[in-house]
Amino acid sequence: MHRKMTEQEIISSFDEAIENGQIYLVYQPKYNHSTGRLIGAEALMRWRHPELGEQLPDDFIPIMENYGLIHRADLFAFEEICRFHNSCPNYMLPISFNISRHDLFGHDYVNEIEAIRRRYDVPVHYFRAEITESSAIGGFDLISNAVKQFHEKGYLVEMDDFGSGYSSLSILKNLPVDFLKLDLRFLAGEGLGGRGGVIVNAVVQMAKWLNTPTLAEGVETIEQADFLKSIGCNYVQGYLYSKPISKEDFMMLLLAHDIEPTKPSLLLIKAM
Ligand code: C2E
Ligand code: MG
Ligand code: MG
Ligand code: MG
Repeated sequence: MHRKMTEQEIISSFDEAIENGQIYLVYQPKYNHSTGRLIGAEALMRWRHPELGEQLPDDFIPIMENYGLIHRADLFAFEEICRFHNSCPNYMLPISFNISRHDLFGHDYVNEIEAIRRRYDVPVHYFRAEITESSAIGGFDLISNAVKQFHEKGYLVEMDDFGSGYSSLSILKNLPVDFLKLDLRFLAGEGLGGRGGVIVNAVVQMAKWLNTPTLAEGVETIEQADFLKSIGCNYVQGYLYSKPISKEDFMMLLLAHDIEPTKPSLLLIKAM
């Protein structure tokens, strides 16, 4: 029977699920829009329950957050990315990991992942942190300190889900992120000819003036892709290019595809 896990089922089977591989990652490729090259991927969490079937993050992440489980889940995800990197023939492309604001409450999260990264000995420029603007709700200092700490250690930071939900210009002004991820799902099926397109264009131009590259996520149609190219959006991610895929499939893609070389960022050079 396939159904959503209940809160109680999530809480009581969490430990076991982490230990026996029911919780795992899939990878969604990201591309450079002008060269067509693969630039990396976003790691997304999945939970395959033996009886209840595949569970999606929108159903289990909020429960993990409410019951203090997300921090362990996210450290596990980070470690899993380290293992992925070490299983590649060479270090290849940066993988982005998602951060919950609950990872930051009462935890020394950035130093914790740093310890994991050092243990696996993977260079820092093969990771990118994705922080949603909504993390700033109830504490801008927490998220701004995290961005500062990430930068000190040499991690690049992407602002996730920009445009969907809680969007504030002051966050954009005060958080020096390295990439802006613009979520096209806010268009909700409407084309780019109307107000939505005007807003997407304005955000991309504003990001250019701020010297911040843009990545559009949730790209589903050729029409959207053409529009994004015409306004100079740098990177793309979405079902049009690829759904999230298994680590084995992503590895094959890495080996077969023309990839964009990854260079240590200036941040890392400053951090050393
Ligand atoms: P997100 O970080 O914004 O991730 C993008 C979501 O959009 C993913 O959903 C992805 O599968 C979906 N997506 C990608 N391309 C398209 C498209 O073209 N159309 C549509 N309709 N959707 C697309 P997913 O995997 O269900 O994850 C949902 C959210 O759960 C993520 O949103 C992120 O906020 C959270 N999440 C996922 N993995 C993790 C994790 O490891 N840790 C934490 N803390 N949160 C995670
Ligand atoms: Mg994300
Ligand atoms: Mg997003
Ligand atoms: Mg999201």
